[in-house]
Amino acid sequence: MEIISSRNHLLEWRSSLKAKNEGLTFVPTMGALHQGHLSLIHQGLASNNQILASIFINPLQFNNPQDLNQYPKTPELDLDLLKKTACNAVYMPQYQDVYSEPIPHLFEFGALESSFEGNFRPGHFQGVAKVLYRLFSDVQPQEVILGLKDYQQYMVVKELSRRFFPHIKIEGAPTLRDEQGLAMSSRNQRLSPPEYLQAVKVAKAINQAGIGQKTQTFAEWKKGIVQLCSTLPDISVEYLELANPSTLGIVADWPKNQAAILLVAFYAGQTRLIDNVFLAEM
Ligand code: AMP
Repeated sequence: MEIISSRNHLLEWRSSLKAKNEGLTFVPTMGALHQGHLSLIHQGLASNNQILASIFINPLQFNNPQDLNQYPKTPELDLDLLKKTACNAVYMPQYQDVYSEPIPHLFEFGALESSFEGNFRPGHFQGVAKVLYRLFSDVQPQEVILGLKDYQQYMVVKELSRRFFPHIKIEGAPTLRDEQGLAMSSRNQRLSPPEYLQAVKVAKAINQAGIGQKTQTFAEWKKGIVQLCSTLPDISVEYLELANPSTLGIVADWPKNQAAILLVAFYAGQTRLIDNVFLAEM
């Protein structure tokens, strides 16, 4: 696996692939890798392209400086994990590799970026769009694989791609969960054992929404979840809503004629986690 640590090296490596007429699948990450990240690389194998991962903690997408400072950094472990996968190369740029050239666009994503995460993390998706604009421009992939755990990010990036990189295929990968059912996340490393157990309880309850769908209104079911969370001392819910998966507009009750997505963000102690569940129409 080639380790690429500067923009110039990346551009050279990219040209050499072009000369060999090889396709490229790109998996951008912020490191502190876990099996969820590796599952994206695994999904990339289907294309027969070369696979490039990136590791870059993008300061522009952190609205909270403390969250940025505490974001886990495990570069040696990340490289060990990546070497055991089909990943052909990893790009680990410095800040100046990404941001020394100005990003020549303002990004407008309308409701896709203002609701849910956008509402609680002002500027977050602008930061995501900026870093991916630069990375997509330099990496020039045919395909990008993103996790559906970050569903709103996936939708924003699809829009970014539609506008600026229409030739890139944006693929979503299913959320990988640990053995207790908690969606894998680099941030899970920061949970204390009691916080972890409480986060698992929330994840399990949320993932049983399909059962609630059969017997209760959404409002009744949500009340039950809020009640559960009030018994968990380290949990506080930021949002728990049903949305239209295409527009992210809020949906008042369980889906009838169209699928919906249940989106949740909650704190376990100081750690903010997100999750989602797709619900089919009944
Ligand atoms: P991050 O390093 O958190 O920016 O994540 C990099 C990519 O991995 C994003 O596309 C995430 O959606 C994806 N990802 C993170 N956690 C998971 C997971 N548990 N299952 C699948 N994909 C994930």
